[in-house]
Amino acid sequence: MKKQLAVGVDIGGTNSVFGFVDREGKILARGRISTALHDSAEELVKVLCKEIRKLQQELGEESELVGVGIGAPNGNIRSGCIEFAPNLKWKGIVPVANYFETDLGCPATLTNDAKAAALGEMLFGGAKGLNDFLFITLGTGLGSGIVVNGELVYGHDGLAGEMGHAILIQNGRLCGCGRNGCVETYCSASGIRRTYLEKSCLAPDAKIDSKFIYEKALSGDRDAMDSFTLTGEWLGQALANSVTYTSPSDIFLFGGLAQAGELIFTPTRKSFEENLLNIYRNKIKIRPSHLAENEAPILGAASLAWKKVKHTNQYE
Ligand SMILES: [Zn+2]
Repeated sequence: MKKQLAVGVDIGGTNSVFGFVDREGKILARGRISTALHDSAEELVKVLCKEIRKLQQELGEESELVGVGIGAPNGNIRSGCIEFAPNLKWKGIVPVANYFETDLGCPATLTNDAKAAALGEMLFGGAKGLNDFLFITLGTGLGSGIVVNGELVYGHDGLAGEMGHAILIQNGRLCGCGRNGCVETYCSASGIRRTYLEKSCLAPDAKIDSKFIYEKALSGDRDAMDSFTLTGEWLGQALANSVTYTSPSDIFLFGGLAQAGELIFTPTRKSFEENLLNIYRNKIKIRPSHLAENEAPILGAASLAWKKVKHTNQYE
């Protein structure tokens, strides 16, 4: 019998990564190409599919492609389109899932990268067996995947779960979405950077990143430590609010900022409990994601394909 494999593709602003993933969540082979070098989505997918076929041949043994899952900014599962992605070269609504299906001849499922990673956590990470949890990515922005009753929440138009754009502070920081005070302008790698720059009176274009702030905090720098505390306080508050909608058992934090460990987890948990409605107190766990930083995009995307297979098999 041929070995069944799913392909996971993550389309990012700079690079796109892809890999073959087995049913147990093991990445058997992987590759990467530049996203920015390609002017259109159609051209990008063509090159990706060529590379995927090449990789499949290199894998040697006979394999059967059960499907391809794609994680991308503003990816919509309902339409299979990337819709108005801010960090990609092409504009408008692009039928990316369709391009993959036509080229590879197998089912393709597309959703946004944070939702895909949440599914990866459920199938292959720390959320195995959990039915209700939140998955938060703290990268350049704040992405989220909401799982209720064992299913990702997509909403009527496929666009549910934009927790990063809930307004946290009235008339607060200007967000990339054009509004003010969104959660992600405070609780993200770029958010903590803004906080640190404000605290230490540095110019907005100062060449520092969240890793620099992390190292400063470790060395005992007051502004850096305060920046982590403040970020955690804001994040705890935002998460306490979000809990009222779906009552999750666990909240997973993923991404560069989450890797700061107790520097971010301790103030987040403290603020979370303080801001929670009493009926939710002391029973929701805020935990680090179990997915490795460099594997999550591929595993998450591939889990879209595996989920579809498992779902179909249930009804056979
Ligand atoms: Zn926003």
